[in-house]
Amino acid sequence: MSDQKFVLAGVMGWPVAHSRSPVIHNHWIAQYGLRGTYALLPVQPDKLSDAIRGLPALGFAGCNITIPHKVNAMAMMDVVHPVAQRMGAINTIVVQADGSLHGFNNDGFGYIQSLRDAQPDWRGDAGPALVLGAGGAARAVVLSLLDEGAPEVRLVNRTRSKADDLAALLGERVKVYDWSERNDAMDGVALLVNTTNQGMHGQPGLDVRLDALPATALVSDAIYIPLETPLLAAARARGHTTVNGLGMLLNQARPAFHAWFGVMPEITPALHQAIAATF
Ligand code: NAP
Repeated sequence: MSDQKFVLAGVMGWPVAHSRSPVIHNHWIAQYGLRGTYALLPVQPDKLSDAIRGLPALGFAGCNITIPHKVNAMAMMDVVHPVAQRMGAINTIVVQADGSLHGFNNDGFGYIQSLRDAQPDWRGDAGPALVLGAGGAARAVVLSLLDEGAPEVRLVNRTRSKADDLAALLGERVKVYDWSERNDAMDGVALLVNTTNQGMHGQPGLDVRLDALPATALVSDAIYIPLETPLLAAARARGHTTVNGLGMLLNQARPAFHAWFGVMPEITPALHQAIAATF
């Protein structure tokens, strides 16, 4: 038997049974011949603080944090990485050798990397982006697009006040449009992103028309169930390159796995197949 340490990690959320993260991380543990496991950690909101403080005592290398704990868990960290600080939320905890807790947010990294996987020469400064939605996913997407040099991010949300709040936090390159202007706001953009839940399994498709979207625009959707939302199907039919939300999910997992297990894992066709088998 190997004398390599057995590494424990997991995903803390409520509810969390639907999470695909165990499939991803346990696939990598097997692929790289590591000793360890990645578990579902269902934790009710009023138990979050106890659960997080227990991670070092239980010997966890760390864990992912998901809905509804991403914002509240941040206050329980000893150190919050600057990117997570700006996002106002964490999605990864890494337990340090001295037992202290460091919080990270890799969602924006995962999103940008998913665009580069689909279009290797993608550049954030290629032109304006239009982001639909103003929730947690939008915040990660808009921040990372600004960090990649987007000259302008147009933000449209059904509830305009949430888009206004996000724009006020993120600066003057973010321009808010009314929900009624969402089709016209596609004029001249290099990137269209859906971060609403419209088009997700069980929800109606997003109510948009793509007539004003330049033929060269990249179209992406944060949703990964289904892999091709009605928005992506319509965009593909018009000849656009499309990117689904699975790449964001897979890519955000890579730096966390690296921090816990010491290996930067690859996203392979076998991993895609393992995930597809769970749909
Ligand atoms: P959230 O914070 O609850 O935000 C939901 C967004 O959807 C809000 O902007 C909301 O607008 C909008 N919305 C809801 N119903 C709508 C409707 N009928 N018409 C128009 N807009 C509507 O959720 P989130 O965490 O940002 O997640 C959003 C989506 O991203 C989900 O599908 C989630 O699965 C996906 N996601 C994917 C990843 C990934 O790794 N691929 C990561 C995170 C999230 P209002 O403000 O008006 O309610």
